[in-house]
Amino acid sequence: MLLDEAMSNMRTFFDNAAQRTTDTLQNSKSYMDRAKLRSKLNDAYRALGKAEYEAAIVGVENMNDIHALITEISGLRQSLDEIERNLHKSTPVASAPPKAPQAAPQQAAPAGAVTYCSKCGKQNPADSAFCNGCGSQLVH
Ligand SMILES: [Zn+2]
Repeated sequence: MLLDEAMSNMRTFFDNAAQRTTDTLQNSKSYMDRAKLRSKLNDAYRALGKAEYEAAIVGVENMNDIHALITEISGLRQSLDEIERNLHKSTPVASAPPKAPQAAPQQAAPAGAVTYCSKCGKQNPADSAFCNGCGSQLVH
């Protein structure tokens, strides 16, 4: 019975680990796709600039090229947007750092009486039980 439970816990642990690995792989693939798309998009912009330059010099005989490039750029931008959205969706939200335990409200210390935290060196009212800076218990 206990062994079954342990085995099932282990399986859950490994399943979760496998899931995390898959997520990471998908993410890095998305990052690679994004980099590829960005460089394609840059190429397309450059080609469009060149085509427009040529159009300005020799006239609009290559207008079809320009339209094709604009269509390509729109498509690339859409794919890029999609990847961007997916990456934002799957990026884990950084959890807030644990808060230092707050010192319980204390009676006002005599004016000027202070104690220094042995951990972080912050100055605290002499009657504080915990450091206001790092939350360590203050040694009096
Ligand atoms: Zn401290």
